[in-house]
Amino acid sequence: MHEAQKLHVETFRRPALHTVCAPGRAELLGNHTDYNHGWVMALAVDKAITWAVSPRSDHRVELVSTAFPGRVRFNVEDLAKDPEAPWADYVKGLLLELRRAGVAFAGFNAAIHGTIPLGAGLSSSAALLVATALSVRKLFPYTLTEAGVGAIPERDERGELPRPTAAEKLAIAKVCQAAENRFVGVNCGLLDYLSSLFGRADHIVILDFLTLTADWTPLPHEVAVVICPSGVQHALVGGEYNDRRRHCEAAARALGVASLREVDVAGLEAERGRLAARDYACARHVVGENDRVTRGSALLRAGDVAGFGQLLFASHLSSRDDFQNSCPELDALVECARGHAACLGARLTGGGFGGATLNLVWRREASEFQQHLAAGYRQATGRELESWVCQAVDGAG
Ligand code: ADP
Ligand code: MG
Repeated sequence: MHEAQKLHVETFRRPALHTVCAPGRAELLGNHTDYNHGWVMALAVDKAITWAVSPRSDHRVELVSTAFPGRVRFNVEDLAKDPEAPWADYVKGLLLELRRAGVAFAGFNAAIHGTIPLGAGLSSSAALLVATALSVRKLFPYTLTEAGVGAIPERDERGELPRPTAAEKLAIAKVCQAAENRFVGVNCGLLDYLSSLFGRADHIVILDFLTLTADWTPLPHEVAVVICPSGVQHALVGGEYNDRRRHCEAAARALGVASLREVDVAGLEAERGRLAARDYACARHVVGENDRVTRGSALLRAGDVAGFGQLLFASHLSSRDDFQNSCPELDALVECARGHAACLGARLTGGGFGGATLNLVWRREASEFQQHLAAGYRQATGRELESWVCQAVDGAG
């Protein structure tokens, strides 16, 4: 029995009616480009948040998670923040946004188990939100698209709902983003939710944040993606993330464009004199990342994994020097990775300021690479490293 189902039985004294699983994500290339309407290559990873849920006959919600002690109880009519259990704010924020969108729901019990390390840059928060939205859909079926709430979907003879369409997944991602933006206070883009929903087993998902569409390309089998959590937790709320976003928006304004998507590397250099120094440096990162994603997907499709890997190294330098969203531990991991012959590329993944690095290595040498990195990281920082070879999995839904 899954941990979440066990916890449900232990806590609520009966089996769960549904189980819902949403994966975390790793950004392969394309850093802070989502809210700039650019492109990102990402993976849904083999670490996830699972909900075991059952309906209640009243309007109360009871939540329990293996990650936090105690039980959180509230009424669906009273979705106020609770400083005693901030993790439940994600769930409440999502319920508020669903209600705002016109989705009707009542009370439920949920037992939650996650395997995504918290604050490690693999987006446990997005997986929690996506799992919340899909759990509510299982319990109180709804169809939500850009056009609003549609007809209630019907269960088949086995009691299963149709899987959400791409349009529904997009609407769910937007509801999740609104919850994290408004309720939790992080002005993040759509990347994390779209990756968790649109990921595909053994594939890279290439997301376009202007057209809000997904495309997929196979992850070459001869390479492995190794994820290395630095152990430094990022703290995005109200801080550095929103600051970088403001610089990007200021740069776009000064350049007279709706978003940095509309600017290419040469165009940015030509207009450099119009930008304040920090706005320029942040814009150079984003415009460079868009360029690297475009070139990177062409290289991968042509089978040039070594060329693709070089773009990961370049991305990290751009983060470190221009965008300044790295930290000494992430830099140490990337430098150490660079020193191993099996490593094709390495960079920080996710928002930055802590979190994890992503490494592209020849698969047959992955475990030697992991040992090399653990020893190097211990020597450089005194920290232990628990890296893992990450599989790309299917998205939620
Ligand atoms: P990241 O998304 O990079 O992992 P965040 O700080 O954005 O980091 O989100 C982490 C927060 O998400 C946690 O502090 C907690 O509030 C919530 N969260 C993540 N995993 C779980 C879980 N298994 N159970 C309950 N809450 C969780
Ligand atoms: Mg997060």
